[in-house]
Amino acid sequence: MSTTGTLYIVSAPSGAGKTSLVKALIDAMAQVRVSVSHTTRGMRPGEVDGVNYHFTPREKFVEMLEQGDFLEHAEVFGNLYGTSLSWVKYTLAKGYDLILEIDWQGAQQVRKLMPEAKSIFILPPTHQDLRHRLNNRGQDAEDVIDLRMQQAISEMSHYVEYDYIIINDVFATALEDLKAIFRCNQLRLEPQQKRHTHLLNDLLR
Ligand code: 5GP
Repeated sequence: MSTTGTLYIVSAPSGAGKTSLVKALIDAMAQVRVSVSHTTRGMRPGEVDGVNYHFTPREKFVEMLEQGDFLEHAEVFGNLYGTSLSWVKYTLAKGYDLILEIDWQGAQQVRKLMPEAKSIFILPPTHQDLRHRLNNRGQDAEDVIDLRMQQAISEMSHYVEYDYIIINDVFATALEDLKAIFRCNQLRLEPQQKRHTHLLNDLLR
């Protein structure tokens, strides 16, 4: 089976717009898929099991972990998150580009196992803007927002470990930047050779 899919890691502090950007990218590019992680955290309003996450009891998650079902896993804010190894293998083997929306800890594990993976970090345009986005309903106490800011800064301190940096100021521009990374990688010699074997053979006949 020809493998033309590329594995992408996308990380960002919460409030940087990562999920909206990834969703818009997937709507625009048919050959790109996003991995649905397993998590032990509770479902938030509007989330759907199997769509946003596979919501998994902690006991079951630990069992899966022990069985080697996860490519990577991490504990984030007291909850466990993990990426299904079989799903990653299956999707890449089908030729899709696959996005893992994971934190820096998971990114470090994936880079070790799959050094060919491309990693992208999404940043907010300003400190003030991030603070504003973390308090989008304007209902949270200052100390709650301060804590979220500290968590965001801690995540952002890992940006240097990534291959690409996108600043999400104007959404449409950030989306174009993201698309450009994917398009550029799709046009690399090796995947193009696999996609166009017949044409290339024919041209050199
Ligand atoms: P949230 O619970 O807000 O959806 O996600 C919290 C954090 O967990 C985010 O930084 C998100 O990228 C990260 N995350 C989500 N799924 C995974 C996963 O499968 N593995 C790892 N390592 N992090 C994940």
